[in-house]
Amino acid sequence: MKKFDVIVVGAGPAGSTAARHCAINNLSTLLLEKEKLPRFKPCGGGVTLAALNELDFEIPKNIIERECSGLKAGFNDHQNQVDFSSTVAYMVKRDKFDQKLADMAAEAGAELHDSEVCRDITCSSENITVQTDKNEYQGNIVIGADGFFSKVLKKIRGGFDKEEIRYCIITDIPLPEHEVTERIGDFAELQFGFVDFGYAWMFPKRDCISAGIGGMLSHAKVLKHRFKEMLEMWNLRTDLKTKGCFLPVSRFKHDICADRIMLTGDAAGFVDSFSGEGIRFAIISGKIAAETSLACHRKGSFKKSSLKYYQEKCFETFGSRLKQSNKLTDNLFKYPGVLLGEAIDNDDFLMRYLKTLTGELDLTDVIRPLMKMIPRLFLKKVISIFRMFK
Ligand SMILES: Cc1cc2nc3c(=O)[nH]c(=O)nc-3n(C[C@H](O)[C@H](O)[C@H](O)COP(=O)(O)OP(=O)(O)OC[C@H]3O[C@@H](n4cnc5c(N)ncnc54)[C@H](O)[C@@H]3O)c2cc1C
Repeated sequence: MKKFDVIVVGAGPAGSTAARHCAINNLSTLLLEKEKLPRFKPCGGGVTLAALNELDFEIPKNIIERECSGLKAGFNDHQNQVDFSSTVAYMVKRDKFDQKLADMAAEAGAELHDSEVCRDITCSSENITVQTDKNEYQGNIVIGADGFFSKVLKKIRGGFDKEEIRYCIITDIPLPEHEVTERIGDFAELQFGFVDFGYAWMFPKRDCISAGIGGMLSHAKVLKHRFKEMLEMWNLRTDLKTKGCFLPVSRFKHDICADRIMLTGDAAGFVDSFSGEGIRFAIISGKIAAETSLACHRKGSFKKSSLKYYQEKCFETFGSRLKQSNKLTDNLFKYPGVLLGEAIDNDDFLMRYLKTLTGELDLTDVIRPLMKMIPRLFLKKVISIFRMFK
């Protein structure tokens, strides 16, 4: 049976980053991917500047479909747009972007096996064994980077709690490049109010517009109908095939490591609950998992107590960002009629929010001024209700 120091399951941004950094640190690394690469991944494909800055190599220009520098946002009759004047997010198609990340892992020395499915994992005090549809491998550590339906996650807990799951519907609408430019240019558009606790989006690519809608899992049934309304409002085709998919949003109540196992990216639920951004946290957690793997090999210990460093470092590095995002989601959507419209009308709020996507600001710099607005807005609302009955 072939042996490795580290076996990474899943070659998305989390897995390929983890595998690359393990290999750079001279750990023998196997990267398993169930699909044939390049593989389709349902995603908006917005890679924020903060995410791109986490990579230690350039993304070739031909992979970048568009550079977005502005945001259009709306909630009912509140419609606004801000131009950041420099790039906030790079629009990519995930098949090409993820292929590049996997290539970089292989170039660093990781052994990449695509079209090979991890079927089972068994852990003993001596090693951890990964059973695939083609072979069996032994390792010291397994990094679970296998996304929402993670097999590795199931070795730690049953699956995501209902409150941690968001549901999305997406489609790519093919259009000539000039038409994409005329309709939306280098702006990303978000429309709130069509679904509770979520939004519909329109992201420009080179030869299409990526449109989608996402919200709470409990609202999954109404999403298809709302999405059609949204596409009609945007004057976009409604006859194309759509794809439904899940998004995990951690509430930080569960461990993300066990003896010889770490969970990264979506498998750990590292997605921003307000924006749906996950690529950044997949890349960062992949890097921290590699750093932890190296430390464990140096120490010769692969027990949960040694791997706890991974969990603590993730929470320290971006845990508060994701928790703040949960808070922002809870507050904005709990009283949408009071806060959301005001936030959208406020250029300063939108600009500050964009700065959290470039990495210039922390979410607290957005939330604090917003919280200060709440008493005044409630008062305004109460006065307007009184006036209605006068
Ligand atoms: C509709 C939608 C829109 C989104 N838009 C954005 C966006 O615009 N910007 C952003 O930053 N984030 C976005 N996200 C979130 C983002 O897609 C994820 O957070 C990100 O892909 C997580 O990366 P990952 O490597 O953890 O998992 P994934 O990218 O899901 O990769 C997991 C990999 O594991 C493989 N795999 C699964 N099971 C096995 C197995 N048993 N054996 C071997 N391989 C396996 C899969 O084939 C896959 O390649 C969006 C998500 C959704 C659903």
